[in-house]
Amino acid sequence: MTGLAVVDQLRERPGVGDTIAIIDPVSEEQIGEFKDGGAEAIDAAVARARATFDSGIWRDKPGSEKAKILWKVAELLDARAAELAQIDSLNTGMPLGQASRNIDAAIEFFRYFSGWCTKINGVARDIRMSGGLNGYDATIHSYSIKEPVGVVGLIIPWNGPAFNAAAKLAPSLAAGCSSVLKPAEETPLSALVFEQVLEAAGVPEGVTNLVQGWGHTAGQRLIEHPDVDKIAFTGSTEIGKKIVEAAGGNLKRVMLELGGKSPTLIYDDADLERAIPAAAMGIFMHSGQACVAGSRVFAQRGVYEPVLQGISAFAGRLRFGGPNDGKVHSGPIISERQMNRVLGYIDDGKNNGAEVAIGGHRLDRPGWFVHPTVMTSVSSDTRVFQEEIFGPVVAVTPFDEDDEVVSLANDSTYGLAAAVYTRDLSRAHRLAGRLDAGSVTLNCQMMWDPDVSFGGFKQSGWGYENGELGLDGYLRSKSVWTML
Ligand code: ADP
Repeated sequence: MTGLAVVDQLRERPGVGDTIAIIDPVSEEQIGEFKDGGAEAIDAAVARARATFDSGIWRDKPGSEKAKILWKVAELLDARAAELAQIDSLNTGMPLGQASRNIDAAIEFFRYFSGWCTKINGVARDIRMSGGLNGYDATIHSYSIKEPVGVVGLIIPWNGPAFNAAAKLAPSLAAGCSSVLKPAEETPLSALVFEQVLEAAGVPEGVTNLVQGWGHTAGQRLIEHPDVDKIAFTGSTEIGKKIVEAAGGNLKRVMLELGGKSPTLIYDDADLERAIPAAAMGIFMHSGQACVAGSRVFAQRGVYEPVLQGISAFAGRLRFGGPNDGKVHSGPIISERQMNRVLGYIDDGKNNGAEVAIGGHRLDRPGWFVHPTVMTSVSSDTRVFQEEIFGPVVAVTPFDEDDEVVSLANDSTYGLAAAVYTRDLSRAHRLAGRLDAGSVTLNCQMMWDPDVSFGGFKQSGWGYENGELGLDGYLRSKSVWTML
């Protein structure tokens, strides 16, 4: 018994497919179950979204009214913030404090994008034509209009259920889109609160639609659906590629926030008291289950030993546990399958010459906990160096100079984030230009703000979330020409 109303509400939702169990990763016990909505629920949800979009009930609402409703969503979420934190903490195993910070950030998305509702404008200009391509001798008044892209499919992962839902719902609503949200099968609970809050705040019925289910059933139907105009996805690169393939059917737009193998560079002149804990938390927070996790640390030769010792000591001091285990720094891995994947990577590294400085094993307790792990002598052609592990595993590697570390850092199919620690600000900014990553943090890590765009390079993604660029992904631009 969890005592959470959403668990019962979810169980009672109709579905057509098989039953999906919700497992608490801390106790390994089942805390609930629900029916897969499958392709049928997606078809019905897309039809509802399409009907509301075509009717203009939300799309054509004045910006100021949309703004008020999104602000109201934020207020209603505020009122349920403690409950939401409890839900996501239970469902993912993350500590309550961390879940609370996630919920606060989720709510900020609604406040931030509420402000954009009244500021969605195109540009106007008068063009004097003389001859040119069409031979006109005339003055033309031309303007552009930004319109919502239409019906959007929002597919999100389990590592931050409420945060990821808000990151997509808020800009899609601000833009005037109708949507279908499919949460991850592991973490279906907090989305129910969003459904209730959106309705209570005045988002008309059918504008946002929640479908719970498996990725390969409900998710797959959503990405293939011919009446969906855009997919906004956060998850693995593997599924991102499937989405690109499926989008070919109707050439729907695609926004992808995918994996990463982000480097953290620590120079000899860095403030180690700041760099070491930040680099350690940059990988060990949430058991490494963050797309921006700094899973490769490069330490300049002069500080390699203190950095290695410092991160290893930090790893040794961290307390991993569940929300009811008192003060803990991090929770478990989300599932047994995922934990075994993480342990498999550690074994693979060891079989390929890497050494384990600390960790490398499961914690001796119930739950899917992996001890924070530091590996050295990790060759750049091995899977531990190249592939996203999504667990608390970091490779620490020495370097001597800029060109060498830039080439090591960029030796990845990913390009999501990078961090640099140095007191030489000129060098820091030079490196920001050279590192192949969508977000570069200098003397800090894990930065987030709803106004700062976030997007990956290379196989870390397409497009952006947050800020004006994020909003733009839910809009299309039309050009209108008038001969005066
Ligand atoms: P992770 O490895 O982080 O679980 P996934 O990329 O597998 O990430 O899952 C992220 C989201 O994508 C989840 O909501 C999942 O259900 C969904 N998903 C998985 N497979 C598919 C698919 N074939 N089509 C659409 N969505 C999918």
